Amino acid sequence: MAEVTMEKLVSLCRRRGFIFQSSEIYGGLNGAYDYGPLGVHLKNNIRDFWWKEMTQLHDNIVGLDSSILMASKVWEASGHVSNFTDPMVDCKQCKSRFRADQIDLNAPCPVCGTRDSFTAPRNFNLMFATHIGPNTDSASTIFLRPETAQGIYTEFKNVVQSSRVKVPFGIAQVGKSFRNEITTKNFIFRSCEFEQMEMQFFCKPGSDDQWFPYWREQRMEFYKKMGIVPEHLRWHQHGPDELAFYAKDAYDIQFLFPMGWQELEGIHDRTDYDLSQHQKFSGKDLTYLDPDTQERYIPYVVETSAGLTRNVLMVLSDAYDEEPTPEGDIRTVLHFHPEIAPVMVAVLPLVKKDGLAEYADKLEHELRSDFMTYYDQSGAIGRRYRRQDEIGTPYCVTVDYDTLKDNTVTLRFRDSMQQVRVPVSELVSRIREENRAYRRV
Ligand code: ATP
Repeated sequence: MAEVTMEKLVSLCRRRGFIFQSSEIYGGLNGAYDYGPLGVHLKNNIRDFWWKEMTQLHDNIVGLDSSILMASKVWEASGHVSNFTDPMVDCKQCKSRFRADQIDLNAPCPVCGTRDSFTAPRNFNLMFATHIGPNTDSASTIFLRPETAQGIYTEFKNVVQSSRVKVPFGIAQVGKSFRNEITTKNFIFRSCEFEQMEMQFFCKPGSDDQWFPYWREQRMEFYKKMGIVPEHLRWHQHGPDELAFYAKDAYDIQFLFPMGWQELEGIHDRTDYDLSQHQKFSGKDLTYLDPDTQERYIPYVVETSAGLTRNVLMVLSDAYDEEPTPEGDIRTVLHFHPEIAPVMVAVLPLVKKDGLAEYADKLEHELRSDFMTYYDQSGAIGRRYRRQDEIGTPYCVTVDYDTLKDNTVTLRFRDSMQQVRVPVSELVSRIREENRAYRRV
């Protein structure tokens, strides 16, 4: 396997339309990214894969889409106003800014090399503040949410009362979050605007001892199901210095990113901290009455919190390879799991003339209702295959002269580069079968 570097990923993403820097024509905005024609499909497919896993394939999980803007009191209750801070230092010489916990304060400035140039660390709140309404006084200050979870806690009561769910149950949500991150290097790994996929599982106090290991296992299995190489995933349990004061236990799933092992998702046993805080600050009763036992309690929460945009980086990094071809050159290939590939099937006429292009064009239209398709008739067939390999298209369908005679096509597999002959009438079922049986080689 070829070494995957961040430079190679950034370059491929830009060249093929996966990800661009925001506001590039104005010099770019740090920490903000745009997902291009292929990137948006990849991101949406990962989101849908997660959403299906959580809401369709599990018992008792309902969905929610809460708003980004919330009452300021929410962030006082959650502790974000007072505690959601990073220690920050500035270099007095070059004015570069760093997270004090990420650099050696006794070493020279990593940007300009000056010694003893750092200011004393001071706490910096990561929430973006803005104003709602016509006044810009402190009473009108609101925040862009730095996580989606609080929208779930504040809707706990409404969901219980309107959905007939019974504890234990979960609420899943995908959406944008915002953090004014001090250091935003490593491409989309850490950005100021990003997306999260979070699920809060409400359970009876004490039963978290079973649900916490259950969700840890489920979440690790999910990534393997998505085709991630198991050796690129590992656990990291939070030590006493990392654990939030209210948390009973916390594990991160880490992925081997190009810059090393880093957090991908957190699974936390948050006790009854969140609902208790919101009960205290809102003055509203957030207890749950068990209809069977008549016991009343504040549920415990097991949280699974993953970065969607960070998942995109993981998937790109995990899928990337450069491989020798039988023709003696090197192909760049993205081994995406078919269910998350931006394009499922490319339809290619061997040549444009003699009615092959018309046949292929019609076939591509027919396949559209089943799969995301792509039509390409320009250039040598080998080069067209390479283009599809580079954007991770799992199947190419080639229309040739035999097709006109017997209505069969060549089905080419991205990973093995093998080709088989398939009747056009069986194409959809064959691709579905291949998807079900897909294993990363
Ligand atoms: P860190 O300590 O690295 O800043 P965190 O532990 O505060 O991150 P959480 O608050 O647990 O992260 O967020 C849950 C998930 O959201 C993370 O595992 C990550 O995938 C994603 N995430 C958090 N911050 C960012 C960001 N700035 N950009 C992209 N994804 C992020």
